[in-house]
Amino acid sequence: MPTTTNKDYYAILGVKKTATAEEIRKAFRKAARRYHPDVNPGDKRAEERFKEISEANDVLSDEKKRKIYDQLGFYSDQIDPAQAEAYARQQGPGGRPRVDFDGFDFSGFTGGAGHHAGAGSTGWGSFKDIFSGIFSGAQQPQRPRGPQPGTDLEYQVTVDFWTAIRGGQARLQVNRQETCPTCHGRAHTGALMTCPECNGTGQVTQMGGRMKFNIPCPRCHGSGRISHTCSTCHGETVVPRSETIEFRIKPGTRNGQRIRLQGKGNAGQNGGPVGDLFLIVRTGAHPVFSRVGDDIQITVPVTVAEASLGAKVDVPTIDGRAQLKIPPGTQSGQKLRMRERGVENAQRTGQRGDQIVTVQVAVPHLQDERSREIMRELAKLNPQDPRVTLFDKL
Ligand SMILES: [Zn+2]
Ligand SMILES: [Zn+2]
Repeated sequence: MPTTTNKDYYAILGVKKTATAEEIRKAFRKAARRYHPDVNPGDKRAEERFKEISEANDVLSDEKKRKIYDQLGFYSDQIDPAQAEAYARQQGPGGRPRVDFDGFDFSGFTGGAGHHAGAGSTGWGSFKDIFSGIFSGAQQPQRPRGPQPGTDLEYQVTVDFWTAIRGGQARLQVNRQETCPTCHGRAHTGALMTCPECNGTGQVTQMGGRMKFNIPCPRCHGSGRISHTCSTCHGETVVPRSETIEFRIKPGTRNGQRIRLQGKGNAGQNGGPVGDLFLIVRTGAHPVFSRVGDDIQITVPVTVAEASLGAKVDVPTIDGRAQLKIPPGTQSGQKLRMRERGVENAQRTGQRGDQIVTVQVAVPHLQDERSREIMRELAKLNPQDPRVTLFDKL
């Protein structure tokens, strides 16, 4: 009689029994990356290992399944959580077992029935009577999983300064799950065949603590027949795929903006809808311009003469050169606004931001005596002390 052995799922994933869901998730992802058949083509041992860690993860990542596993030392879809709880309580240190199984080998019940054991056989019948309270619903066929929607994906994408302002096309390589092209999401291929786990009997012997008993075969869910698991997706119904996604950047796209690409997320399972892909835009920097929303900021040096007498100077804008009027008496650090010389708003067409110019007065290094003479004369003609107000406020 085939037996499903008790596997230590915690050891398989290399986590403690007290591991959090996050620790289990991380351990599984790490192991899955290492043993995934796609990275170990043709390696049977890696494939076996991958199946093992997938099975361990399937149970430990599911709160309900994990609880049953912790209580019984194994997991089957056929076990009712409430009954497992009751069973664990009876087996607990302080609990008095309802039925004493010590030293009793239950294999006798099933051994006689051999491979022809079924729900109707005498051996199984009496066995089932004993355990009917523990494994209620044992004869129920496994319900197929319902449609599961595909998860959304989120990627950060850096768009250069000019593309964000003027718009354009951008590309990004994304890793997403796609419906398996071999089985078209059915998880299996070909016709039904006899289950190798139970040799078609639909039953397997299971160890539970010191006891041995029969449960419906977890592989075929008691039907005795299985289909070929799809060799492309290993029954996952989806396969990972790396894809280059091309998308449009609207003119005026801002840093941090989200772009939603419908239907470009992970594929759903069992007919569930495909998820979306969200792109978080990071806009690139520029050596001269900096961008704050739709406004462009720039620092422009002016001479002492231009700042004090006033001038018209050429400054760069995102559209090219433009003339800026420096009013007489402009101070260093003063900000001048050039209306509608900023970035076109991505939502409201025709609306633009401003360019904010920070004036920086460039003080000349006087090289000759004549210039220094003129500067001293200028100071004599303008004896105002610019620091006087500082002392006024003390
Ligand atoms: Zn089976
Ligand atoms: Zn497949």
